[in-house]
Amino acid sequence: MTQPRDNETRWITPTSPLTGKPAGTVAITEPEGVAAVVERSRGAFDDWGAMTHDERKPYLRAFAKHVLGSMDRIAAVIVSETGKNVGDAHAEIVGTLTALDFYTRNAGKLLRPKKGSSWPFLTTRGWTEYPPIGVAGIISPWNYPFYLPTLSSIQALCAGCTIVVKPSEITPMSGQLVEDLAIEAGLPDDVVQVIHGGGDTGSALVDADTDIIAFTGSGEVGKVIAGQAAKTLKPVLLELGGKDAQIVLEDANLRDAARAAITFGVFNAGQQCVGIERVYVVADAYDEFMEEAADAAGRITAATGDHRDIGPFISAPQAEVVENQLDLAVAAGARVVAGGSKLTTEHGAYFEPTLVEGVDHSMLLMQEETFGPVIPVMKVADEEEALLLANDSPYGLHGSVWTGSKQRGRRIARRMKTGTVAINDHLINFLYPSIKFGGIGESGLNGQLGEEGIKAFTIHRSITSARFRPTTRLMGGWMPRRVGPRYWKALAKVLFGWRR
Ligand code: NAD
Repeated sequence: MTQPRDNETRWITPTSPLTGKPAGTVAITEPEGVAAVVERSRGAFDDWGAMTHDERKPYLRAFAKHVLGSMDRIAAVIVSETGKNVGDAHAEIVGTLTALDFYTRNAGKLLRPKKGSSWPFLTTRGWTEYPPIGVAGIISPWNYPFYLPTLSSIQALCAGCTIVVKPSEITPMSGQLVEDLAIEAGLPDDVVQVIHGGGDTGSALVDADTDIIAFTGSGEVGKVIAGQAAKTLKPVLLELGGKDAQIVLEDANLRDAARAAITFGVFNAGQQCVGIERVYVVADAYDEFMEEAADAAGRITAATGDHRDIGPFISAPQAEVVENQLDLAVAAGARVVAGGSKLTTEHGAYFEPTLVEGVDHSMLLMQEETFGPVIPVMKVADEEEALLLANDSPYGLHGSVWTGSKQRGRRIARRMKTGTVAINDHLINFLYPSIKFGGIGESGLNGQLGEEGIKAFTIHRSITSARFRPTTRLMGGWMPRRVGPRYWKALAKVLFGWRR
C-alpha cells in the first residue's frame, strides 16, 4: 500500500545483510488501518469473484508474462534485502512462474463442479461446486520472500479470491513486488493489496473480515493464528517448520546422495523449511558417503563476494541459534568434519557449510529446526533403524529416500511420517504444483498446491436438485407418517440386502 508521507506514518527500511545499505522503504499499515484495506478487497471481490476462470485468465497470463519479463528486477530486490545468491533469487521466481503457469492453465478444470452418485436417491441429482471463499489474508516469512507470498497468492487468485498479503517485516520489498507487479500487469484495483508491519499487523489481518488465512512461518506463530481464527472458525492453512530427514541406503548412487545432502543442507544458507536437516546413512554406505559429502562441502563458499555459493543469514540472530545447536552437539560428542565456523562481517553473519558426524537424538541439532547450513549425519544399522529415527520427530514436512530400487524407495516413502517424500531427490515436491504439498504434525495443517491447494480457497458448496417430486416424499419420509419400521426395514433390505 502506498501511503502519503506524514508525521504519523511509521516506516520499515530493511537493510542488506551483505552491504548494510538500505534496500528500500515501505509504510507500515498500523493494525487499526487493516480493516479498511480488507474492506477494499471485499469491494474488488464483487467483480473478481463473479468472473469465470476464462474471464480471469487474460489477467493471470498478463501477470505471468510481467513476472517473466521482470526476473532481473525481482531478483535484484530479493538480493538487496536478503543477500542471497542471485541464482537462488532467480530460482524463487522460477518457482512462482511454475505455479502461476499450472494454475492459470488448470484452475477451470480443477474447480469444475463434481457430480455425486445418486444411489439410492435416484430421483435427485447432487453435485459440489467450488466458488471462491472471498478475501484471503496471506502472511509470509522472510526466507523465500518472493516465492512464498506469491505461491499462496496464485492459488487464491486463481480460485477467484481477492488477497491482502502481509509479507515479513524483514523482507517487505520483495513482498511489495506482488502488488506492484499485479498493478503493472493490469489486474483490477484492489484485487491484490500488500500491507506491511510486524506481528501486530498480521494479527489484525487474522481478526479482520478476511474469509481465510494462509500462513507460512514458524510453528509458534502458526499456533497463535490458529487459536485466534478458531474464535470465528475462520479456516487457516498453515505451512510451518520442518526437520527433514534424508535416508541413504547402500544401493543408492552415493555420490548423488552426498551432493544432495550438501546442496539441500546449505541452499539458501540453510534457511529453508524443506532443507535436509538430518541424514541417516546405513553402515555399508557410510564411509563412501562421508568422503563424498566432505569433498562436496569443501567446495562450497560462504562469503561476501559475487562468487559465493551461499550468502549471509537473512536474519542475523539466526546465526546464534545455529551456533548454539552446533556447540551443544560438539560438547556432547559430535565431531565437525567440514566447516563449523561462524563468520561475521560489518553487516551480516555467515556460517560455513558444516558437516557433522557422531550425533544422536539427544541433541537439539537432531531435534529442532536448525535453519542454517549444518548437516548432521548418523550411521545406522539398516533401513529399519533409519526409518525409526527419521520418524522420531514432532515435525512431518518433507523427507527423502535414496536407493537404487524404485520399489524399495516407495515402500520406505509410504512408511515415513511426513506429508511429502521425494525418492532420489529432495525439495522438488515444494515446486511441483500439480500435487499436494503440506506438512503433518508440528509442520502444518491443510497445506497447499495440487487440487487440494486451490480448493482450499473455495467454499465446497453442495447442491441437490429433485428431478420430479421431492425424493424424500417419494420415499415415504414425509409427515404425517404413513409408514412404520416394517417399511424402513423392507426398504433397507431391498436397497442393500443384496450387497456382498
Ligand atoms: P514467523 O512465524 O516469525 O513470521 C512469519 C510471518 O508472521 C511474518 O510476516 C510475521 O510478521 C508474521 N507474524 C508474527 N507474529 C504474528 C501474529 N501474532 N499474528 C499474525 N502474523 C504474525 O516466521 P519467520 O521467522 O519469518 O520464518 C521462518 C519460519 O517459517 C521457519 O520456521 C520455517 O520453517 C517456516 N517456513 C515454512 C515453510 C513451509 O512451507 N512449511 C516455508 C518457509 C518457511
